Amino acid sequence: MKKSILFLMCLSIGLSTYSQEKQVKKNKSKKIEIDSVQWKKEHYVINRDSAYADPRIGIKKLMGGNKRFIEGRTIKPRQDMNTIKSLENGQEPFATIVGCSDSRVPNEMIFDQGLGDLFIIRTAGQVSAAASYGSMEFAVLKLKTKLIVVLGHTECGAVAAAVERPEDVPGHIVTLINEIKPAVAKCAHLPGNHVNNAVRQNVVDQVNNLRDLDPILHKKYLNGEILIVGAVYDIHTGKVEFLPETLNNLPQPKKNTK
Ligand SMILES: [Zn+2]
Repeated sequence: MKKSILFLMCLSIGLSTYSQEKQVKKNKSKKIEIDSVQWKKEHYVINRDSAYADPRIGIKKLMGGNKRFIEGRTIKPRQDMNTIKSLENGQEPFATIVGCSDSRVPNEMIFDQGLGDLFIIRTAGQVSAAASYGSMEFAVLKLKTKLIVVLGHTECGAVAAAVERPEDVPGHIVTLINEIKPAVAKCAHLPGNHVNNAVRQNVVDQVNNLRDLDPILHKKYLNGEILIVGAVYDIHTGKVEFLPETLNNLPQPKKNTK
């Protein structure tokens, strides 16, 4: 009698374990559907219409894309014929990137974005002058882009040249060097990597410069209609760091502004 009870108990435990294992296997084999809510969550996908309407969401969208990039899980969105066709009649980029020309910092790739997503202005050391300012104002006024990101990067050659302070700079390169020199001077006393310290300072200075730029950006920034922030791309890791010093005390959007 005792033996049969023991046998039944063992059988019951065995069956229960088998059933649990089966359930685990079932869960593991369950495929996540592409574009489902869960898939989007796992790939940090943020709705582009929301990012276009709200620059704070735009920053999150860029962060999510960069996270996919460094995790080797890019989805290469909006890079197909359907998107080409959908953009035939116009564009609504959710961010303007003011970045360096460096070939190691291709903006759409490092943020894992697609066609029509980013309005990009690139010069060495992301130094801006009249034509760049005009491009930014065009993006803000005509394309209604509400987010401007100044994107520097570590080991920037233009910043390195300004740190080394070469004497006989050929051609127009002197324009770049002269624009970056004030940032270099500001952080010359800091310990650590002089070039990367200057890269960061240069971004902060450029952000402040754009926030003060009359007649369009300054007013729109103060009204909270647009955001202008800074970030640095690390060429060793692929990671973009949005600089906290450019994210503090941002003006809040006023009601009924678009
Ligand atoms: Zn550079």
